[in-house]
Amino acid sequence: MNLSELHFSQLDQLLGERGQKILILSHRNPDGDAVGASLGLQLILKKLGHTVNILIPNALPKFLKWMPEADTITVYNHDTNKAEDLLKRGNLVFALDFNDLSRIREFDEILKTGESYKVLIDHHPNPGQFADVTVSDTTVSSTSELLYSFLHRMGLGELIDKDVATCLYAGIMTDTGCFSFNSSRPETFHIVADLLKAGIEKDRIFDLVYDNFSQDRMRLMGYCLNEKMVYLPRFRTAYIALSQEELRNFNFRVGDSEGFVNLPLSIADIRFAVLIMENKDCVKLSFRSKGSFPVNALAADHFNGGGHLNAAGGESNKTLQETIDSFVDLLPNYKDALLTD
Ligand code: 5GP
Ligand code: MN
Repeated sequence: MNLSELHFSQLDQLLGERGQKILILSHRNPDGDAVGASLGLQLILKKLGHTVNILIPNALPKFLKWMPEADTITVYNHDTNKAEDLLKRGNLVFALDFNDLSRIREFDEILKTGESYKVLIDHHPNPGQFADVTVSDTTVSSTSELLYSFLHRMGLGELIDKDVATCLYAGIMTDTGCFSFNSSRPETFHIVADLLKAGIEKDRIFDLVYDNFSQDRMRLMGYCLNEKMVYLPRFRTAYIALSQEELRNFNFRVGDSEGFVNLPLSIADIRFAVLIMENKDCVKLSFRSKGSFPVNALAADHFNGGGHLNAAGGESNKTLQETIDSFVDLLPNYKDALLTD
């Protein structure tokens, strides 16, 4: 936890004066970690007597809507007037779970030029230098895990009740793929043990996140695996590409493709899995790898994106087919890296 004495005392003072107008911002296509950390922090800051609002660029998927106070989140593209108003009023801003301003274009101005005091809490590599305080640690599983340590460092650990613990646990669980990756740190499990002691119902949380989908999503998953997955064993790579029309055929809703990118990783010897989805305004790519193949570098170099070593994303303004072709054309350049363990 890299929080200097100076920043600690500035924050301690700010949080100690009741009635601050606090804005919590997180990234586009919010995931369990972004939403869990935002809601957990909001609950704590409200207990301290502050006015708190969470603002995200676009809607959260149904499998995250059950979280405590999720209905208080303002979605920029649903409620733009309210969002613009909130952006003008916050005197303290927390930016959670993103390192790159391109993921939150709507909030550019407040983060780059606004007068507010800004705190970034994030676990992605190369955090952007836009905040007054940057709490960054790339060795933690999730922003929710980092937030837990931050709250303790600020002397607020006592305020982590069952609802806060539920939010943080959901963030850690989803960002670690239910503790299957990125979670080798003993500390992650110590923190989870503490959250269990706070009374969370971990089996119920699992159920609400992973067993809460529509029939359409299950059929779309079957279609992806049976008809859409392209396996390229010579590159130890598999990809799934979906057009708008295919998505419509399965009544696609935000969140329905959650986890699809991981599916090909179950093939023995695979190193690289990709999900390519045609959106209304661009083509979105999700990258996952096993081992040392750095998908964040590939995403940054070719798809205007970034992320973690083994989980990254990007986008393309070409058509779906052109995007697929340019992706496949890249693979020979990475052959050596993909064939090394
Ligand atoms: P997902 O594939 O689940 O959308 O994203 C996985 C990870 O990739 C995210 O945690 C985030 O770090 C990163 N990521 C996804 N999309 C983008 C993007 O468009 N730009 C950047 N810089 N990172 C992204
Ligand atoms: Mn995260």
